[in-house]
Parts: sequence; structure tokens; C-alpha cells
Amino acid sequence: MRETTAPRVNGDRMQIHPERASNVVASVLAAMHGLFGTPDKRIALHEPEFRGEEWTYVKECIDTGWVSSVGSYVDRFERDLAAFVGCKHAVATCNGTSALHICLILGGVEADDEVLIPALTFIATANAVSYIRAVPHFVDSETISLGVDAGRLERYLERVAQVIGGVCVNRATGRRIRALVVMHVFGHPSDLDALVEVARRWKLALVEDAAESLGSYYHGRHTGNFGCLAALSFNGNKVMTTGGGGAVLTNDSELAKRAKHISTTARVAHEWNFLHDEVGYNYRMPNINAALGCAQLERLPSMLQRKRHLADRYGQAFAGINGVRLLREPPGTSSNYWLNAIMLDNGLAARRDELLGTLNEAGFMSRPVWTLMHRLPMYHACPRMDLDVAERIEAQLVNLPSSPGLIASP
Ligand SMILES: *Cc1c(COP(=O)(O)O)cnc(C)c1O
Repeated sequence: MRETTAPRVNGDRMQIHPERASNVVASVLAAMHGLFGTPDKRIALHEPEFRGEEWTYVKECIDTGWVSSVGSYVDRFERDLAAFVGCKHAVATCNGTSALHICLILGGVEADDEVLIPALTFIATANAVSYIRAVPHFVDSETISLGVDAGRLERYLERVAQVIGGVCVNRATGRRIRALVVMHVFGHPSDLDALVEVARRWKLALVEDAAESLGSYYHGRHTGNFGCLAALSFNGNKVMTTGGGGAVLTNDSELAKRAKHISTTARVAHEWNFLHDEVGYNYRMPNINAALGCAQLERLPSMLQRKRHLADRYGQAFAGINGVRLLREPPGTSSNYWLNAIMLDNGLAARRDELLGTLNEAGFMSRPVWTLMHRLPMYHACPRMDLDVAERIEAQLVNLPSSPGLIASP
């Protein structure tokens, strides 16, 4: 059940000439035709690219019979991935949601705790909190990175929370606020220095939902290295894929050991006996998926480079269009440009659906951002701060086709 978000009516709206408002849809469409010509089949939002050793590695799994939860590709994938992101440990999982679930458990989240998460995120972030029977507590975003607004979160916590004996407590609900999950939206790194500081001051475990930000750097350091734990996703629509898959990242060897243990049914090593020392999860990435991942990682730099080039081309194409802003990487960061997005000016939000309809009809797949978490029936009653920026982004944003293979390299 989706409430309608009234577009923000302010001075800006009055300044937009009616002709300009109708022109914006035509101008964006013309820019898309300029970039891609007239598509003979629909251009997808994000398609995987298999141009390396994928077939060789996957075939080897089938030929040798090592397709499932044991095999050398899983270890190799974890090593290669950790090296790529500059993180001590990577633990491969069956998808990004399970990786997030593990991150929250190891971050110390327990039933009835509250976990601060952005309202502007994919459903997996909120669901992982619910799997622990903890309560998502929604926070607002800022318009540079679209990530959690550290300054407003700080002021909000000053109003509603209190640190008592090293524990952050929600003064209204009495519940412990245990963790803050930040998400790097469409690959653009959030304002990490400020968010790390908020987490430190309020005694919150910082978890990065880095599902969208493989290949994205904040001040030269790969995302996923800023909290105690981070989750990656290798779903088919992400920058690289293992079919389905994810990973837990951490620089803490003890947490890495725990992540591996509870994601592999908490089995105690033994030559032949089935011994499990706690309730674990069957979240391990199968070897056949890891084989795909090893091949994809080899090609990741090339895919990232072409995605940056595509973003530059979008930037040039939209530069002259009034009322439309292409989302660029925040200053001091390098984004993987997972999904390109345009933001319409306040006064043009009413045209968003017309723009989506026109682009999709012309064969350019385009999508609005996710419905904000607090609008969904199961999360309607969760605690939240004022979410007016997230609501504005929701009303004004359109995602555009962003596959690495869309445009040839210069
Ligand atoms: C893709 C994604 C995930 C994980 O998704 P899976 O499909 O479970 O791999 C989690 N959070 C965000 C923000 C995502 O975009």
C-alpha cells in the first residue's frame, strides 16, 4: 500500500515554466536516443557480462564434481575478494541478505534491540533486522550521496536517545539501539567519516550494507572497511555476479572466524562426526557460484572502467537539460556507478511517472527508487525520524540503464 507523496511545493515549483516541464521528458528522451540510438530490443537496467573465464571455471566444477558447499573456488574467491577490497577477511555467503543477517548477529544485535537503518534502501536491509526480531528504526538521507545524513542523525539522537552505561537507549521506547547500518546507494559512498563518528559517540555497532558498492572508494579506501562488518551482494544485477551470492567483510580475525562458523551450520571440525555447537545457518556460497565469482573478479576492473565512462557520457548528455541533475560521485570518493540516476527538480516531480513511462516505452528500461521502508505494511509502525529528504528523493529520482557493456570504451 503506497501512500502518494505530495511533491514538495515550494518557490521552485512556481518558477518552472509549463513549457519547460513538458520539455524535460522530451529532452531526456532525446539525450537517450543520442547516446544509444533507437534500441531494437529493450535496454536493461543492469545486465551481467560474461566475457572472461566464467565458462572454464564453472565447467571445471562440473567436470570434477565439486559444485556444492566444499571446493577450492570458495577459498580462492574469498582470498581474491579480500585482496580486491583491501580487507583482511571475506566470508562468502549464498546471497547479500544472508551476509547482512550475519553482520547484524555478529554486531551484537539481539531480539528487541533497535537498529538504525536508512528508509531509502532495498528491502534486504530492513528484513535482515527483522530476522533477529529486532526493530528497524528509520533515518533520513542527504542529497549528495543519498546515504544516511550524519548531521541530522546526530541531532535526532540528541533528542530521542541517551547513552547510559555505554549503551544507547531510545528514551521513548526504552529499547537499546544497538547498531547503525549505512548503505552506499547506487554505489556512491556515504559520508563515512561523519557516520563513523556518530556511531562512535553513540556506542553503535557500525555495519555497512555495501551490497551496491563493490569497487567504490571513500578517500582512497574501499567501502566495507569502515564499520566492524560489511555485507556485499553478487546478485545478477549487481556490478559483478556469482549468480546469487554475497560476502561478509571484516578486518577483525575473531569476527571472521565467527562469520564462517555460523554461516556453515556451526559445525565443529571433525574427521567424520556431525557436531554443531550452536544454532548455525546454511549460508555458505556453493563452489560453482564461487567459480563464476573468480572469473568475474578478474574482469571487474574493466567493467568498472566502462561503467565510469558511461557515467561521463550520461553527464555530458544531460548537462544542458534544465531541471535534471545526474547523480555524480560525492567529492573525495570514487563510485562504481552501479546504477546511474537522475534527480528531477522539485517542481518537476509530478512529471516523474510520465518520464518513466516514456523511457520504458522507448526501450530504455528505467525505474523509480525503492518504495521507502516505512511505507511498507510490515514496517509501517516502526520508529522513525522525519524522512522528508528521503521522501523528496523518492519522488524525484529515476534510474537509467547502466550495464558495463552499453557503451564501448574510448
Ligand atoms: C542487492 C542488495 C542487497 C542484497 O541482496 P541479495 O539479493 O540478497 O544478494 C542488500 N542490500 C542492498 C541495498 C542491495 O541493493
